[in-house]
Amino acid sequence: MQRITILGATGSIGVSTLDVLARHPERYSVYALSAHSRVEELAAQCERFRPARAVVGSAAAAEQLGALLRAKGLRTEVEYGEQALCAIASAAEVDAVMAAIVGAAGLAPTLAAARAGKKVLLANKEALVMSGQLFMDAVQDSGAVLLPIDSEHNAIFQCLPHGYGRAPEAAGVAKVLLTASGGPFLTRAVETLDAVTPEQACKHPNWVMGRKISVDSATMMNKGLEVIEAHWLFGAPADQIEVVIHPQSVIHSMVSYVDGSVLAQLGNPDMRTPIAHALAWPERIASGVEQLDLTRMGGLQFERPDFERFPCLALAFDALRAGGTAPALLNAANEVAVQAFLDQRIGFRQIDRVIAHVMDAVPHGAASSIAAVMAQDAAARVAAQTYIAGHAK
Ligand code: NAD
Ligand code: MG
Repeated sequence: MQRITILGATGSIGVSTLDVLARHPERYSVYALSAHSRVEELAAQCERFRPARAVVGSAAAAEQLGALLRAKGLRTEVEYGEQALCAIASAAEVDAVMAAIVGAAGLAPTLAAARAGKKVLLANKEALVMSGQLFMDAVQDSGAVLLPIDSEHNAIFQCLPHGYGRAPEAAGVAKVLLTASGGPFLTRAVETLDAVTPEQACKHPNWVMGRKISVDSATMMNKGLEVIEAHWLFGAPADQIEVVIHPQSVIHSMVSYVDGSVLAQLGNPDMRTPIAHALAWPERIASGVEQLDLTRMGGLQFERPDFERFPCLALAFDALRAGGTAPALLNAANEVAVQAFLDQRIGFRQIDRVIAHVMDAVPHGAASSIAAVMAQDAAARVAAQTYIAGHAK
């Protein structure tokens, strides 16, 4: 029996994870769940999955959750705050941690799970983008097992040889090919992009996801973050990572080898497949996802990304090549810009301008410690907010 903590249980990935776990009660039990503010949803999850512990974002939310759980006669221990998140991620009782908090807020608990040597199921790409080498070192030092949930990275993981040691040459890997749907604005006239609303940006053609990653998909910053994520997970330099637009999202990514072979992983676009894969790895379990019917597919298309339409993708490659704390700078500026767009304080095309400004204006340095990364994150947020205040619509 594997005991699981889910960080971000009420989110899109959290809910899909519980869906898979519920199909295999003989294999998995839930040790702890976390949510930021959606207390009623978390209470319902506690009633169904009976975790020992639940963590929320504030004292007020903890009080509300405690009352709801007592009314249901549940004994789940309720805590709040970052330290409590780190505690449920690293507790001795836990075997595997699903890291599914969105954004930089997930770094501390995800790192705590890695340092504690857990099986870390990584959806929270921002944590790895920010901390890069420091995170990979923590995994190495503790003997943690790091398994990618992001569908592209999970696909690449499946296409790499077993025991792959983050050395592309040694494994005969020529390139890692990250597929991208191109999001909702792949073909929309560029000059009309400034007028798009948060609702339009969040309407992804193939996936239903949280709002932040949905906007990231529309700007293609999501793919940019994934390029950096792939660099750390698979040890591939920027030149060995190629982005390919594939609007159908049926091929989830590919690995191209020196002998000319290209291995791809295919499936219906449903996150329960990578979640089930990582939960059971190296075994396979049912995920609830329908089998792919190739004969019912119209056709698969591929094209090169247009870096002018999607400046965020170019900014992410720049940050990866710059190294050090540059990816943390990029990530924080993006988080602030996306929130400002969702709050309708800036237009869609201002997102990339905020990030470009912050990347130019704020010096970056060596990612020598988590404290240095967090300081860079904080400086980027201040610079982004200041720029937005001066350029709000
Ligand atoms: P979501 O917005 O649906 O859920 C986010 C979760 O994080 C919620 O449970 C929320 O309570 C929690 N949370 C938010 N802010 C928090 C804070 N400050 N402190 C603590 N907890 C907080 O997001 P999602 O779509 O499930 O994405 C989660 C992560 O997984 C992101 O990093 C995203 O990039 C990644 N991811 C998601 C998908 C997808 O299909 N949704 C695919 C690949 C990767
Ligand atoms: Mg992805």
